[in-house]
Amino acid sequence: LQAISAVPLDNEPVSEEELRPQALGGFIGQPQLKAQLQLFLDAARKRDVPPDHILLAGPPGLGKTTLAMIVANELGVPIRITSGPAVQHAGDLASILSSLDAGEVLFIDEIHRLPRAAEELLYIAMEDFRVDVMVGKGPGASSIPLTLPRFTVVGATTREGMLPSPLRARFGFTAHLDFYPSEELEKLIERSAAVLGVDLAPGSAQQLSLRSRGTPRIANRLLRRVRDWAIVHELDVVKPDDVKEALSLYQIDSEGLDRLDLAVLNAIVRNFDGGPVGLNNLAAMVGEESETVETVCEPYLVREGFLMRTPKGRVATDKAWIHLGLTPGGDVSK
Ligand code: ADP
Repeated sequence: LQAISAVPLDNEPVSEEELRPQALGGFIGQPQLKAQLQLFLDAARKRDVPPDHILLAGPPGLGKTTLAMIVANELGVPIRITSGPAVQHAGDLASILSSLDAGEVLFIDEIHRLPRAAEELLYIAMEDFRVDVMVGKGPGASSIPLTLPRFTVVGATTREGMLPSPLRARFGFTAHLDFYPSEELEKLIERSAAVLGVDLAPGSAQQLSLRSRGTPRIANRLLRRVRDWAIVHELDVVKPDDVKEALSLYQIDSEGLDRLDLAVLNAIVRNFDGGPVGLNNLAAMVGEESETVETVCEPYLVREGFLMRTPKGRVATDKAWIHLGLTPGGDVSK
C-alpha cells in the first residue's frame, strides 16, 4: 500500500512541478509571510541588488521549495538547486559557489545536513562573497581565495534548531512555515483540481482539506488519488461521499492522521501506557528514524493536541486515547 505522507517521493518530481505556482500571487495562504517576502523582494529590486539570504523553516510539504523557486522567478534570475546530503565534501560546495553568476539564487534544501566543513565554507561565502579554492594535493596544496559575485542563498530546513548559530546569523530573512488551516487548503485543492481537470462538487474540496494534515503536498496527493477514483468509476463530478469512499482506501482517517501518526500514537498508548517515552525508543518501536518521527510526525500531532513533548519524553493526550477508541489511562490489554 502506498503511504500518503508529507515526505517527497523520488518518482514524483514531474507531477509536483505541474502543480507548483510560479509567482507569489499564486502561492496560497500564509498571508503574513507572503506580505513580508513581497516587501523584501521589492526593496531589493528597487535598490537593484540581490536580496539578502533567506531561510525557510518548517515541516516537509508546506511549500519551501516552491517559495525558493518563486523568489528566483520574481527576481527574474536562474535558480541552482542542491541539498545538504548531496554535498559530500566542502569542495563540492566550493565548485558550485565558484560557478554562480551574479544575482543567481542558490537553493540548499535540508541545509542542516551539510557537512561541517561545507557549513563553514558557506557562511564565509554568504558573508564575504569569497571562497577559498584548494589547488593541488598533499604537502604542495595551497588555497587560492576567489571573489564571488553577489548571489542569494535560499536555505530550507525541517530542523532549524540544528543549524549552527553562525550560519543562522547569515540569513537576513527567516520565514517559519506552519500547517495550513483547512480553508486555505480548500482553495489550494480547488486550484489544483482546475489544473488537473477534476470537477469537484460543493463540499468535496472541504472533505479533502480536512484529511490533508494541514499540508499542501498531501492535499495534492489525495486529490490525485480521488482523480483516479473518478476516472475508474467514470464520474463526471466528484461528490463529498466519493471523496470519503476513495480516501478510506488509503487509510487516511477523519482527522487526517496517516499510518505513521497512528503507529506513533498506538505505540505510546499500548506499549508505554501513554508515556512518557523517549524519542529514540518510540522511533525504534514504530520502525522509523528518530528524525522522521520528530520532523514529519510530531509537529502535526502536537499542533492537533494528540501528543505532548515533556522533559521526560513524549506523552499521549486524552484526545489521542479517545481517537484510538480507548478510555484515557485505561487498560489497553483488552
Ligand atoms: P517543501 O519544499 O516544503 O517540502 P514543496 O514546496 O515541494 O514543499 O511543496 C509540495 C507541493 O505542494 C508542491 O507540489 C507545491 O506545488 C505545493 N504547494 C506547497 N505550498 C503551496 C502553496 N502555498 N500554494 C500552492 N501550492 C503549494
